Amino acid sequence: MNLKSIIAKYSDPDKAREFFEAQRWPDGTVCPHCGLIGESYRLKAKEGSKSPVRPGVWKCKGCRKQFTVTKGTIFEDSHIPLTTWLMTIHLVCSSKKGISAHQIHRMLGITYKSAWFMVHRLRYAATQDPLAAQLEGIIEVDESYVGGRRRLAKRVAHATKPGERPKDHPSPVDNKQAVLAIVQRNGDVRSQHVQRVTAKTIRPILDAQIDPKATIMTDSGTVLHGAIHPRVHHQVNHRENEFGRYENGLCITTNSVEGFFSLLKRGINGTFHHVSKQHLHRYLSEFDFRYNHRKITDGERSCKLIGKVAGKRLMYKDLIPERPISQA
Ligand SMILES: [Zn+2]
Repeated sequence: MNLKSIIAKYSDPDKAREFFEAQRWPDGTVCPHCGLIGESYRLKAKEGSKSPVRPGVWKCKGCRKQFTVTKGTIFEDSHIPLTTWLMTIHLVCSSKKGISAHQIHRMLGITYKSAWFMVHRLRYAATQDPLAAQLEGIIEVDESYVGGRRRLAKRVAHATKPGERPKDHPSPVDNKQAVLAIVQRNGDVRSQHVQRVTAKTIRPILDAQIDPKATIMTDSGTVLHGAIHPRVHHQVNHRENEFGRYENGLCITTNSVEGFFSLLKRGINGTFHHVSKQHLHRYLSEFDFRYNHRKITDGERSCKLIGKVAGKRLMYKDLIPERPISQA
């Protein structure tokens, strides 16, 4: 699947809907009202009847209720044609560093507000299953700070000697948001926005996400040590310019989690420019999703995301930011 084939095959609204039906219901329709599988039929206008039937409507033989493929999904109540949704899904899934709502607004000729709402709904669909199994094996954990702008008082900046920070100097992480990322080597990432990075706040997250028998690796300058103790824990000493070493055949490094952060930061700084604190968790879902499906093609990744649209609703009122929408 690519943009060209989407336009060629699915410009017709019926074709686009049939594609979503095939993706969502590979084993036959599932009635969103009663859960009955494969027992629905397409509603057609009765012979001689003048009242038209809305295209794409199915009727369940069990509960006799009607539904369409968008019922109970992020597409419900959306006025955006399914073809446009399909193109947006593909753009989001194939852009390594993400794609901004502004870009989609310009490329697809929809309003900025629609594009903004669509990408947020897709991020929401990409959210990890809360019951996902714990990560196991070799786990790399790191924290990083994203967004915000570092404001330096000129007076203070001049007074600073290299490697020294005056007491009234703003910390480099002021107005930035802390993100904790846990990566299973050669496996999945789970990242999340955390208010404060302390052993006390991080420990419950690690306990929930990481198998107790896992081997954890972090860098040495980390406050995570207290949160990890007494688990098996190796540290790589970045301050000594060490980026990896072998101990008994085990490669001790945090390259995987740093690779994830570098993609995330390039996305947040280069693509989105500004990500507000209240929406950060949804951007993280988007980056986690792409990372966790990095080994498949863009088309396959798009189909994976389509598979996650059900059972999720996100209303505009739940999304309206505290401040007017900035160019994100
Ligand atoms: Zn039913």
